[in-house]
Amino acid sequence: MHIFIDGKYYREHQARISVFDHGLLYGDGIFEGIRAYHGRVFKLREHIERLFCSAKAILLDIPYSRAAIVRAVVATCRRNHLRDGYIRLLVTRGVGTLGLNPNRCRKPSLIIIADKIQLYPPAYYDRGLTIVTVPTTRNLHSALNPAIKSLNYLNNILAKIEANNSGCEEAVMLNAEGFVAECTGDNVFIVKAGHLQTPPLSAGALYGITRGVVLELAAEAGLRVSEPNLTRYDLFNADECFLTGTGAELIPVVKIDGRVIGTGRPGAVTRDLIQRYRALTRVSGEPI
Ligand code: PMP
Repeated sequence: MHIFIDGKYYREHQARISVFDHGLLYGDGIFEGIRAYHGRVFKLREHIERLFCSAKAILLDIPYSRAAIVRAVVATCRRNHLRDGYIRLLVTRGVGTLGLNPNRCRKPSLIIIADKIQLYPPAYYDRGLTIVTVPTTRNLHSALNPAIKSLNYLNNILAKIEANNSGCEEAVMLNAEGFVAECTGDNVFIVKAGHLQTPPLSAGALYGITRGVVLELAAEAGLRVSEPNLTRYDLFNADECFLTGTGAELIPVVKIDGRVIGTGRPGAVTRDLIQRYRALTRVSGEPI
């Protein structure tokens, strides 16, 4: 595997960053997870736009233009002969001193890893996931805005540990007010009487690229769509529930905190949206 670091390629065992990089010392940096399907990078420009928004929020000057990053991602895929896979794009604050001060960091580093994707087993898509609500709430906007896709994922990792301790793969995270925010690495949707609903971004969620695509596909399919605040009660009493994310795509949920959702099987609206999403990934994206 060839890994891109600041304009050069390194084999994976030689791809290294400094122990003084604030990305490592403090989680001071940002990232994106992107998919390639059939020789095209899916929603690349949207991911790069979100990367620049995260950078702006943490006052980090990415030393590349958007167009240069598009070229670097495509070139890294080509060099790795990647047609289907997962791309991790990171920008770290760069090498600094042991103190917190980001002004001491000379230059941010851009890293691109193009790898195979580790998917959930197909059975989860056929039968649906069982998930739980966890005690760790999603970060407050006023503390660390969940819209920033930062290298500090401890909030999500703590929730993931709590889910794993309950024998689950994913966790519903509430915000400080008790409304549903999102899952540890996915956004959440419900269907109730043919009406598709997902929490508003202001509930404390990442502005998911897959979430955005699903909202568009749902509108095309003629579904009524809205973004209200949702409680656990709303999830329990939904007809269908599913999660969205670049890695998971759309994955049905059939049980939450011991409550069976709908019929206990992936529902018709979820299955239709999965088909529409897969069809889109076959035809759209930045050619490699
Ligand atoms: N929420 C969180 C916390 C995430 O990390 C992710 C990405 N894995 C998502 C939602 C889904 O976002 P996207 O559809 O852009 O991958």
